[in-house]
Amino acid sequence: MIRDQETMNTLLSSVSRFVRERLVPAEEIVAETDEIPEDIVRDMKEIGLFGLTIPENYGGLGLTMEEESLVMFEMGKTSPAFRSLFGTTVGIGSQGILMDGSSEQKEKYLPRLATGEIIASFALTEPEAGSDAASLRTTAVRDGDHYVVNGTKRYITNAPHAGIFTLMARTNPQDKGAGGVSAFIVEADTPGITIGKYDKKMGHRGAHTADVIFENCRVPAANIIGGVEGKGFKTAMKVLEKGRIHIAAIAVGVAERMLDDALKYAVDRKQFNQRIADFQLVQAMLADSKAEVYAAKCMVIDAAQRRDRGENVSTEASCCKMFATEMCGRVADRAVQIFGGAGYMSEYGIERFYRDVRLFRIYEGSTQIQQIVIARNMIKECG
Ligand SMILES: Cc1cc2nc3c(=O)[nH]c(=O)nc-3n(C[C@H](O)[C@H](O)[C@H](O)COP(=O)(O)OP(=O)(O)OC[C@H]3O[C@@H](n4cnc5c(N)ncnc54)[C@H](O)[C@@H]3O)c2cc1C
Repeated sequence: MIRDQETMNTLLSSVSRFVRERLVPAEEIVAETDEIPEDIVRDMKEIGLFGLTIPENYGGLGLTMEEESLVMFEMGKTSPAFRSLFGTTVGIGSQGILMDGSSEQKEKYLPRLATGEIIASFALTEPEAGSDAASLRTTAVRDGDHYVVNGTKRYITNAPHAGIFTLMARTNPQDKGAGGVSAFIVEADTPGITIGKYDKKMGHRGAHTADVIFENCRVPAANIIGGVEGKGFKTAMKVLEKGRIHIAAIAVGVAERMLDDALKYAVDRKQFNQRIADFQLVQAMLADSKAEVYAAKCMVIDAAQRRDRGENVSTEASCCKMFATEMCGRVADRAVQIFGGAGYMSEYGIERFYRDVRLFRIYEGSTQIQQIVIARNMIKECG
């Protein structure tokens, strides 16, 4: 749902200009230094990127899913590491508070998240609990008006920069599954939290993940999201379902960028006295990529519009995440092929995208997990 086309067009053109003029020229330096320059972070805050999905009454832009997807198509046209910096705040890090938090929790945290004053991280994955997140072992034991948290969270995006964590921990040791899990807002400076070293990753340089270790960390009972125990896994799944459309939209944007770069190269590069773009085998790679990008874009818009209308989009969100991220991987592969040897060299940048986009098929529910969700929903509906 687009609420006001004119305002939306203004936002999209300012994001698009920011991407083109500020982010694209900084891609190489971010990859080299593994840091996003401070002035870029400041500008991201100024144009409202940290508050995209936070309602206007809490200081954000309150974008609908369709509006958010359109912004992500634009944001995708540069290194995905830039999106990661604010992506956990607008997505998985803050949405639990927004969806299931109390009004006190919303008032306390959302305005500071919307301005980028603090960053939110989402802490679900553990060393022994990845795809099977419901088996998580981090414990939160009630002690008076606090919970005492112990456990380790793994690969947590933005953990080194986080002001708060949306933490999933087991409050009922008797229930080893989803029902024993509660979600908490944990302030990052709470005693008992240690952040590990930056993980060394295949790509996404400039975006940082790390372990988060909780040792007898005392979290106020008032910080349990939704006020009651046992609802945390449901909160996490709702958050991830929305996140799947968001990641699919980013995958579409990055695929468009890679295809654009590959097309320009194909038109420029000559072999056998003609443009490589004139060879039909190269044209097939361009055409297949164009059609697949278009298909994924239509899927994202459709799922986003359905979600905005209040429909259950569990299946559609998983279809989008699976198709768009797999499509993005195929486009990356073809783009490297079109660049030939240059595609393998770092100075052209395409190999960096090739490494960056590999992540899309793994996190926020791997392709296999999306397949399971889709098929399970189909079978359930079949009765
Ligand atoms: C860069 C990065 C950032 C991340 N950021 C965050 C974050 O901010 N917060 C957070 O909580 N987590 C985060 N994660 C964790 C991420 O969500 C998990 O890595 C992902 O869910 C997969 O879990 P796993 O790594 O334990 O793999 P596993 O679950 O061990 O899976 C390994 C393989 O087995 C397959 N598999 C697993 N179960 C099944 C099954 N039932 N049927 C078929 N195949 C199956 C998987 O698809 C995969 O191919 C991040 C990960 C990375 C790499």
